[in-house]
Amino acid sequence: MRVVVATHNAHKVAELQRILGAALPSLELLPYDGPAPDEDGGTFAENALIKARAAAAHTGLPAIADDSGVSVDALAGAPGVDSAHYSGERDDTANLRLVLSNLGDESNRAAQFTCAAALVDPLEVDENGVAFEHVELGVWPGTIALEAAGVGGFGYDPIFIPEGLTVTSAEISADEKNAISHRGRAFAALARVLAERYGAQ
Ligand code: IMP
Repeated sequence: MRVVVATHNAHKVAELQRILGAALPSLELLPYDGPAPDEDGGTFAENALIKARAAAAHTGLPAIADDSGVSVDALAGAPGVDSAHYSGERDDTANLRLVLSNLGDESNRAAQFTCAAALVDPLEVDENGVAFEHVELGVWPGTIALEAAGVGGFGYDPIFIPEGLTVTSAEISADEKNAISHRGRAFAALARVLAERYGAQ
């Protein structure tokens, strides 16, 4: 079964092949090399669907895509869908510094990472000609640290302390993170959907 991954990041394709390949040994993930759509949805799920729809329309193959970010309760859910460029730039350090300064000494530091994993299958259309669509959400609850710590991961990992841990997600191994993270959870759920749909192919 061939499925397109709507990302230009080869690392993400390899990571997904590891997560999804365990449930679906016959799955062949192909990188998407078509035009990138505007991610102007108001939610992680909408943005994941926008990316998966574009890849499915461009290739004619089933496509999967994800969209993710961190939402801080005391900042009314920000950075949310603006996580990648919260500071106005695609700069991880500037973005996490802005979260720390906007939070200041706020005592409610609750936050969560969310990942939406979407599947769009243009090979299965309903009576109105609309392709099959499915989204799984993975949520990873935690708190925002008082200061950055750790060098692993990316993005907001140095300031995110996962629930149940006393260190940030930049201080745990990639395997440990994948086993419990928002992305790991969303794609484990999507793997079950893919296995049900394409398991016999
Ligand atoms: P994307 O839409 O999945 O590429 O991610 C959007 C942004 O959310 C990234 O640029 C990061 O700033 C943030 N983000 C998403 N997942 C993580 C994570 O696992 N750790 C840290 N930051 C993340």
